[in-house]
Amino acid sequence: MIKVCLPIPVRGSFDYISDEPVPAGSRVMVPFGGRKSMAYCLGVAESAPRAKLKKIMKVIDETPLISPEMLTLSLWMEKRYFTPRGMALKVILPTELKGKARDFKLPAALPFTADLRKELPALPQSPRNVYVSGSVEFQKSFLRREMEKTISAAGRVIFLVPLMNEASSFEDILGGFRAARFGSDLLPSHRYRILCDFRGGKLDVIIGTRSAVFAPLGEKGLIIMTGAQKKTYIEEQHPRYSTEEVAMKRAELSSGRFIACGGALSVEQFYRVKKGGAAAVCEKNAAPPRRRVCDLLEESVNFGVSSELLKNIKSALNEKKQALLYSPRGGWATSYVCSACKFVMKCEKCGRKLCVSGFNLYCSSCKKTVPVPERCPRCRRKKMKNRGIGRGLMASFLRKQFPENRIAAVDADATASDKKRIYEKYEKGDLDVLISGPGFAAVRNWSKTGLFAVMDADFLLYGDDWAAEEKTFLWLSSLASSFASGRTDAIFMAQTKIAPDLVRAALSGDESFYEKQLDVRRKFAFPPFARILRIKISGRAASEAALKLRADIKDKVMELSPEDKPAASAIGVEIRVKIDPDADFEIEKIRGASVTIEEER
Ligand SMILES: [Zn+2]
Ligand SMILES: [Zn+2]
Repeated sequence: MIKVCLPIPVRGSFDYISDEPVPAGSRVMVPFGGRKSMAYCLGVAESAPRAKLKKIMKVIDETPLISPEMLTLSLWMEKRYFTPRGMALKVILPTELKGKARDFKLPAALPFTADLRKELPALPQSPRNVYVSGSVEFQKSFLRREMEKTISAAGRVIFLVPLMNEASSFEDILGGFRAARFGSDLLPSHRYRILCDFRGGKLDVIIGTRSAVFAPLGEKGLIIMTGAQKKTYIEEQHPRYSTEEVAMKRAELSSGRFIACGGALSVEQFYRVKKGGAAAVCEKNAAPPRRRVCDLLEESVNFGVSSELLKNIKSALNEKKQALLYSPRGGWATSYVCSACKFVMKCEKCGRKLCVSGFNLYCSSCKKTVPVPERCPRCRRKKMKNRGIGRGLMASFLRKQFPENRIAAVDADATASDKKRIYEKYEKGDLDVLISGPGFAAVRNWSKTGLFAVMDADFLLYGDDWAAEEKTFLWLSSLASSFASGRTDAIFMAQTKIAPDLVRAALSGDESFYEKQLDVRRKFAFPPFARILRIKISGRAASEAALKLRADIKDKVMELSPEDKPAASAIGVEIRVKIDPDADFEIEKIRGASVTIEEER
């Protein structure tokens, strides 16, 4: 008799009869509610056999891909991410991964080509979690050495990338290893086969995005997470696990190691290092790149361009170098407003402000164009005006300043091929100044760029996001280090109006930023000193259920939102709470309502 749980949002396990022993962690097919369903075997059932038990239909994994360590992991996930264990196991090993992999061949090992550094700091013996930051070359050399150590000791490596297309930039350090990509573009049967080969020791390295963190690693393995601050590492659907948390838990359960590399540490990572839960390894910078903060309140500013920035553009152009200016505000003007009644034109679909692009208004989120109205839709007067400086207006100002030079802006409504054309033009050197939105990441060759300027470093700070300062800090420091890494002939500038201290800290890597953030977060109970949860209640009795729930959890939480919010998606309500990060938190079943809990990050 075996105990299984099903990949359904129901808590608890079910017992079935099996003629042969089924190892824990194997998937089986069982009859359930008049249908066939896949189930995860948890082991032998303890309770006394009952007459009415049904028989399992089939064993899917002869050798389980879910090890005892991962069964423990599923228990941890159940608690940590407020999900039934069956749903956690479904994330660990999705039900569709099965079958015979026809025409499947493991890729041949690539030759090892990377030119690596010899002198590197050692991997700290403990703690088992390590954050590595520094130039790309430094990170790669460090990772290669640690992978060699692990693999020569018969361990295996999970190599995580934020997006699959970033895997190719690490190909050079994977040379000589038996490595396979674990992408969602592969057939489920091929992915299943890769997991089997990895578990069986036929592969040394598995490369994939966040879901690869659940690959069958075995004892004393190594989990590597590149681009560690990218938000693709947080699962978007329930259970919303954090890849980093899962990786650390797995390393702990399997006597393995976890190395995350990327730019500056997040506030939580810094705190973990401070508390001894992780170690930080940084590259010593030989020649710090030139970085400037421009306080817009202390400068004369024209069309969003400060006099200091103008001076720097001029000297870059004089040295026959290019300048790239980053502004997230597309269009000519950023909004279209009635000067009489202050009415602002907004997108009908999403409610965002429309920017002015040519003779149209444009929603950059919905990619929708509407014609410019002649009269104000509210007061009917002919008083509609442009407001705010978009990239187009900025470009026209700079063209007047530098009439000899070739200056362009990426339009708000530029298509993918428009963008491709303009970035290629820039890379070829056919443009002197380019004002771009976030698409500038497509530029690979920065050798002719002498100046990179962030026109508005504050733009993330205007919302009510409690993590906005951290996001700004991480964004600016990663931008600055990826642009000017190892170069002394280039300048990185950031213009700011409301946060000169924050921007200065980001550009200089000043650690006092973290201490300040921790002070504020401790005081107002934000992560890492609290976990913020959104409890979503739906169903016909949602409001009564919410009332009861509030009374139940009142004493178990640090803070309770004063009123229920209508939940965004389903019919129902949402309660926001803060809980002690070290305490267990559970909600009892409520009749007539379904409850899901998501962590706000
Ligand atoms: Zn009006
Ligand atoms: Zn819209």
